[in-house]
Amino acid sequence: MPELYEQTAAELSALLDAGEVSSKEIMSAFLSRIDSVESKVRSFNSFDREDALKQAEAADARRSQGAVKGPLDGIPVALKDVIAVKDQPLTASSKILKDFVSPYDAHVTELLKEQGAVLFGRLNLDEFAMGSSTENSGFQRTCNPWDLERIPGGSSGGSAAAISALEAPLTLGSDTGGSIRQPASLCGCVGMKPTYGLVSRYGLIAFASSLDQIGPFAKSVEDAAILLQGIVGHDRRDSTSIKMEIPDYRAALTTDKKWRLGVPKEYFGEGLDPEVRAAIDAAIKSYEAMGHEIVEVSLPTTDLAVPVYYILAPAEASSNLSRYDGIRYGHRSAEAKDAIDVYYKSRAEGFGPEVKRRIILGSYVLSSGYYDAYYLKAQKARTIIRNDFNAAFEQCDALLTPTSPTAAFKAGEKADDPLSMYLSDIFTINVNLAGLPGISVPCGFTSGGLPIGLQIIGKAFQEAEMMAIAHAYEKQHDWSKRTPAL
Ligand code: GLN
Repeated sequence: MPELYEQTAAELSALLDAGEVSSKEIMSAFLSRIDSVESKVRSFNSFDREDALKQAEAADARRSQGAVKGPLDGIPVALKDVIAVKDQPLTASSKILKDFVSPYDAHVTELLKEQGAVLFGRLNLDEFAMGSSTENSGFQRTCNPWDLERIPGGSSGGSAAAISALEAPLTLGSDTGGSIRQPASLCGCVGMKPTYGLVSRYGLIAFASSLDQIGPFAKSVEDAAILLQGIVGHDRRDSTSIKMEIPDYRAALTTDKKWRLGVPKEYFGEGLDPEVRAAIDAAIKSYEAMGHEIVEVSLPTTDLAVPVYYILAPAEASSNLSRYDGIRYGHRSAEAKDAIDVYYKSRAEGFGPEVKRRIILGSYVLSSGYYDAYYLKAQKARTIIRNDFNAAFEQCDALLTPTSPTAAFKAGEKADDPLSMYLSDIFTINVNLAGLPGISVPCGFTSGGLPIGLQIIGKAFQEAEMMAIAHAYEKQHDWSKRTPAL
């Protein structure tokens, strides 16, 4: 039998149901795996060993009384350090929240607790989820498990690295412009961003509220479906949370339906690494060989993604981050002489350079005189981008694209060049601007042994179909089964 930490959540859940292992044994297996690899990978900002084992024991006690709460009961789940868990640290990997402990649970946390999941660790990210490499963390650099010199992607780099380093069977991240899909692609795991409104944002530290969504990371599409099922549902505390009938995502994976899959030609232009392109072309061929129809479509506003996003997201961030002022929340400078000085010095000391850049950018585009020229115009462009997708979806059920233009780059390579870092998200950002769901699944490796991801973009609230499409591909290949040598 493979090690417990090598197995998927679905397999672990089956072992628990068969009485072959206990939740405590599973949690212990992951904790010892963490002991052996974490000093190399550094996925976690913190974790509480005793509390994790206590939660696992409680799951075992429930099970022995026949009160199992579902497939997540007794399964370890680690969360990106922007999702609130009562009495656990909540830092957004920012010095400004270094000592902050959450006084309440996020909606997703409440749901996972109700289902008996063992919530055991806080995963590293780019400070306040701003970045594509996790190098902007205020605490530490997470390493790509496939090559420790390289970045794991971002901003949910810890969530992706923990899955591929086999430190957790399931993790949650958040995706504002690609922060789940891009690191999943670069670390060789599955990462999924739900449709805007499907998962409540209550208790998620806000970056850009009209774009943020929480979503699952896993070793397989089936596991992602299990975790997604566990976090969806209406929540009156998030006014954008949707009321709808929730399908059985896991059951929907198995189907012999034939789909019409669109390939947007604008996603295959300049800047796309040839090895990534070859892997995506091969994935498209593989769908064709399975009997699905491939159609070329056009998304003419593809190149608006980065400029529109870098007006709207910083605008929202500059407003959301005003609460970290040394008084309402966060670090308070010891040097301050008066109240105004508290604001200046606390924010100057607490925020890192990328966060400051975004706040300045956001304040600028919202200031009178520039508002119409930038913010309003970007909002209009966002509507056109959404219409583009609607038109494309008249011709197909889902879109196939690369997730990221390149495989994982070297740490430091783009750290001093924000624009080239921003371009890491050219294929993911528009999905957020249009509010659509997207998933990244492993689809190959570069000659240097780095993972490549295929992005599947679905219609709004059609996660079940999108994941079935991803699952159909995954079944034909063993990319998701490979693990890095650590
Ligand atoms: N890399 C993008 C940014 O820096 C997206 C981040 C995200 O999705 N949270 O804004």
